[in-house]
Order: sequence, then C-alpha cells, then structure tokens
Amino acid sequence: MRAIIIGSGIAGLAAALRLSQIGWDSLIIERAPKRRSGGYGVSFGGIGYDAAERMGILPDLLQRAFVTEELVYHKPNGERSFTLTRETIAATMGPRTMNILRGDIETVLYDKARDTAEIRFATTITAVDQDAQAVHVTLSDGSTEHADLLIGADGLHSATRALVFGPEEDYLLDLEHRVAVYMLDKRPASIAPGTTGTLSAGGRTVAVISAGDGRNVAFFGYRTTRGHRGDDPATVLPQVYGDLGWVIPEVLAGMARTDSVYFDTISQVVAPTWSHGRVILLGDAAWCVTLFAGYGSALAVGGADRLGTELERHPGDLPAALAAWEAELRPEVDKKQKLGRRVKGVYAPANPLLLWLTQLPLRLAALPPVRRHMTRRYIKG
Ligand SMILES: Cc1cc2nc3c(=O)[nH]c(=O)nc-3n(C[C@H](O)[C@H](O)[C@H](O)COP(=O)(O)OP(=O)(O)OC[C@H]3O[C@@H](n4cnc5c(N)ncnc54)[C@H](O)[C@@H]3O)c2cc1C
Repeated sequence: MRAIIIGSGIAGLAAALRLSQIGWDSLIIERAPKRRSGGYGVSFGGIGYDAAERMGILPDLLQRAFVTEELVYHKPNGERSFTLTRETIAATMGPRTMNILRGDIETVLYDKARDTAEIRFATTITAVDQDAQAVHVTLSDGSTEHADLLIGADGLHSATRALVFGPEEDYLLDLEHRVAVYMLDKRPASIAPGTTGTLSAGGRTVAVISAGDGRNVAFFGYRTTRGHRGDDPATVLPQVYGDLGWVIPEVLAGMARTDSVYFDTISQVVAPTWSHGRVILLGDAAWCVTLFAGYGSALAVGGADRLGTELERHPGDLPAALAAWEAELRPEVDKKQKLGRRVKGVYAPANPLLLWLTQLPLRLAALPPVRRHMTRRYIKG
C-alpha cells in the first residue's frame, strides 16, 4: 500500500512514520526547499503524548523537551508583576505533558521517517484525480504519482483541501487575532537564562520564550480584525507594539536577523468531513484548533497514530477505516475547537480590569501557600 503525503510538518511526518509501522510506503511532498527548524515552543500532551509512546518516539522527544525555570509576568513599564516558579508551571501543565520546540518534534519524526519515506522538497501538488483503484496526483515538477491514499497534511492554508474539498473561505473561521513568532539570535540581557518573560497590555501580548539549549523565541499575539495574509511583519509589528517599552524594541530588532517569521491570522479549520474517497486531510489542514487550544501538535501526532491503527484494523476496506478514524477522533477535535473559541474571548483583553481577572488564577498560583499546595498535589503525588 502506498500513500502520498502533502506537507512535512508534524502531521505529515507522523503519518509517514505510523504508516511505515503498518507496512505502507510513503512519498512526502514538501513545498519548502529544505527542512524547517525552530518555530515556537508548544506544550505537547494528551493523545499526542500517548501516541508518541506507542510509536516509540517518546524518549527522543523527552530528550529535547525544555523546562521553564521561571515565567515572569511584566507590567507595561517593564517592572515584574508576578512570577510562576518551575514547580508551579509543571503543576499547571499536569502530568504527561512536555514543552518542546515545534521544530524539535519535526526533527524527531523526520529522523525516524526518512529511512522508509521518500521526501521531495520544493514541490507542491497541482491536481488530483481518483478512481476505484487509486488516487492520481500531479505535482509541480510535472510528474504524476499514484497511490492508495492521498493525505493533505499541508497546514492551515492547505492546497490539497482547496483542490479536493473546496475554497479556503468555506473552511476557515477567523478568531480575530494575529500571531507572529520567530527565533531570536540573542536573549535580551534583562531576561535571565531559562526564564520566559511576558507582558500583556491593550489587547496585545508579547513574550520571550526560553526554549532550552540557550534558544529563545519571540512571540507576539494580538486582537485585530484587520490585515491581510501577505502583510509584512517588519512593518506591522512595530506599528502595533511600538508604544510598548520593556524589551520590545530589542526583540523587534531581532526580527531582521532571523531566518523566517511565522505571521498569520489565528483561524480554525472547521470541516464537516475529513475524507473524500481516497483523499484525507490531517492536522491543521483538517481541524486547526489554534494556539488558543494549545493542542494542535498533539492532535497531529494522535490523529496520524489513529489513522494507522484504523487502516491496519480494516485491511482492504479504506472507507470503513476512514469512517472509524474520523468517528474516533472527532469528539476530541470538537472539544478542543470549543476550548479555542472560548479562550479567544479572554485572550489578551483590551480592558485592564478583564486582563487582571483573566490573570487572577495565575496570580493566585504565584502566591506561596497556593504554590505549595499545587506542588504537593500535582508533583509530589
Ligand atoms: C504560535 C503557535 C503556538 C502553538 N502552540 C501549541 C501548543 O502549545 N500545543 C500544541 O499542541 N500545538 C500548538 N500549536 C499548533 C501546532 O503547532 C500545529 O497544530 C501543528 O504544528 C500543525 O502541524 P501540521 O503538520 O498540521 O501543519 P504545519 O505545521 O502547518 O505543516 C504543514 C507543512 O506543509 C507544507 N506545505 C504547506 N503548503 C504546502 C503545499 N501546497 N505543498 C507542499 N507542502 C506544503 C508546509 O511547508 C509545512 O511543512 C501552536 C501553533 C502556533 C502558530
């Protein structure tokens, strides 16, 4: 059996690895000229953690996971507001969850998947056709490939979805925020090693995230209904954040020295079905839950794992396998999409009182008696 996978992000690579474990061959088609690295820190848990354990990649992921020593919330003038310690952060995350760079999850998956899957970079999908025997995929290099299954794992703005399921505007739900993230070559001197610093004011959040091994990520998330996909972050971010002090000017200056900036709207993908004959969508292409849910990488790995399980359980019956896969996964996706939409309402509120209220649980967690209780309850047993 053979799959063509569009996209070598977490979902695509996890699918290639899981399918190889049930004896399938895969061809991965990636638009980027080479592997992406870095990205941003994600918290990886839930069904993703369980799947990683079953797929045999958990030890490699844990080796690359990072620990935040301190999470410091700042006031708009840069002064410290309150601080969560390493133990409190671990307690709020709960068990079987790790913080890890998105690029490091991809590296672990890539190192395992590349033995069995062929990866073609700088290539994309241009047309799809299918019949009872196979799916036929035309690629931008002029070649045509045939397979039993086509997996569109090409992210939020999936070309596979546009070709087979319909135009993007039928599927995207804009949560009225934008996000920008990039790796910093230098940590601002006022932020201690291992510390993540964050500030929220006037509907805007900014953070410098310590991501282990001396790596640091700049994060910007703000409320807006304006802007277009092609906007230049080097123009937009100084306009949005220019009035704020703290380390922000230094962090904005770091944008000029970084390899790539992720800058997009925060949008969910809501699709009534994830399969169309021999074509399926996986990961953000199918169900993007957004960073507000903090669960997209978990769903990408968990979704790929369950796809492999159902294909193995229904040999020779693709429709039955895909129906079972979707029925099993959809409740989890629905739950996380609802969570994402709820968080939208309270994320970086413009109103200072609402901001104070949304931070109240964290402020309480920072108080020594609560901190001691949480640490005892969740970490020590
Ligand atoms: C700032 C931020 C914070 C986040 N925090 C968390 C978190 O804490 N926890 C969590 O679990 N999740 C988090 N997420 C979500 C998580 O990162 C994503 O859900 C996950 O990475 C999705 O992986 P994917 O493989 O589906 O898509 P993507 O990562 O978008 O990968 C798609 C791949 O397809 C390629 N591609 C795109 N178009 C084409 C094309 N036409 N042809 C060929 N290739 C193509 C791309 O180059 C890319 O390699 C966060 C996301 C963001 C933006």
